[in-house]
Amino acid sequence: MGNKNYSRRNFINKCFSSACLFIGGMLLLNCRGKNESAGDESETQIQSNLEDPCNDLTDVGEGEIKKRQSLGYVKQSAVPDNSCGNCALYIPAKPDKKCGGCILFKGPVYVEGHCIQWAAVTA
Ligand code: SF4
Repeated sequence: MGNKNYSRRNFINKCFSSACLFIGGMLLLNCRGKNESAGDESETQIQSNLEDPCNDLTDVGEGEIKKRQSLGYVKQSAVPDNSCGNCALYIPAKPDKKCGGCILFKGPVYVEGHCIQWAAVTA
């Protein structure tokens, strides 16, 4: 007869080794996929922000983003003759910047934007 070792300990060791290899491989593949994906997204976001700086909310807090959403801010006004540019609450862009701001929330604002708080400029 051959010298085969059919012990329970051997069987458990082989199962444990196989499981470790499988889990390690899955973790490696999973981590690699996430890093590539995150890199692509951040590169796309950076490119988008360079092309459209008034849409760059990377330095704006979550609360401020929710505030602008709750006010129904849009980057292009649908109301004729009413836009951020002629709103009393608009903060004009500084000479070295392309985007203005709003008194009601932080972050860049399009001069063509609009929200439900639009207020006419009074003399
Ligand atoms: S209140 Fe609304 S319309 Fe006026 S500047 Fe702010 S976001 Fe624009």
